[in-house]
Amino acid sequence: SEAKPLLSVRELNAWYGESHALHGIDLEVRQGETVTLLGRNGVGKTTALRSIMGIIRKRSGTIHFDGHDMMRVPLHRAAHTGMGFVPEERGIFATLTVDENLNLPPIIAKGGMSTVEIYELFPNLKERRNSAGTKLSGGEQQMLAIARILRTGAKLLLLDEPTEGLAPVIVQRIGDVLLTLKQRGMTILLVEQNFRFASKVADRFYLVDHGRIVDSFDVSELPDRMSLLNETLGV
Ligand code: ATP
Repeated sequence: SEAKPLLSVRELNAWYGESHALHGIDLEVRQGETVTLLGRNGVGKTTALRSIMGIIRKRSGTIHFDGHDMMRVPLHRAAHTGMGFVPEERGIFATLTVDENLNLPPIIAKGGMSTVEIYELFPNLKERRNSAGTKLSGGEQQMLAIARILRTGAKLLLLDEPTEGLAPVIVQRIGDVLLTLKQRGMTILLVEQNFRFASKVADRFYLVDHGRIVDSFDVSELPDRMSLLNETLGV
């Protein structure tokens, strides 16, 4: 029996001014799943996440998340529905310490992780708890960005290229964190160009091209897709 969709997106279109960036995206993320949007630079993956979160307001279609009609939710209330967006640029407070960054976000839902739980999951952040955001490595900043969202009690993590620009050993650490979160039942929608990384954490994939979903497949179907993916992604 398959879990019900936590997030269900139908016919999602989005625009930057007059420029039509998303052309009718359909996707679903079931409770407990990790789903990855794959695709080259500039095909609309980030736009899809930002439209789902509601950061991009010029959009049409339907977005249902955990009983909420997200088209009717103003941006300042979006996080309160339990959607947690971790932007590519991470969005942590550079002048605040790790500890301060972790204590700043509002706890909006039951089940938000305590700082003790956060530091168990991210021991390196614990070591750096009194360091300012600016003093952190790229990997530490990415982990802090994820940790902040976990503090809020988000039920769905929207992660935009969490591995971008990070050394392989750090990419591996982030993969381990995502697998741990998955084991605990977290639901994740991930945007990635790092196909090797994505294939270790994802249950399902959508392939995005020119603002459209052009393919979708399960992790078990990966071997059959390799030549198509090599061609499309240049991996
Ligand atoms: P990347 O990983 O590089 O962000 P992507 O697949 O996430 O790639 P998007 O960033 O969503 O792609 O971009 C999709 C399209 O929208 C591209 O053609 C891009 O140039 C355009 N675009 C993105 N941001 C803006 C913006 N702020 N204003 C106008 N056009 C934009």
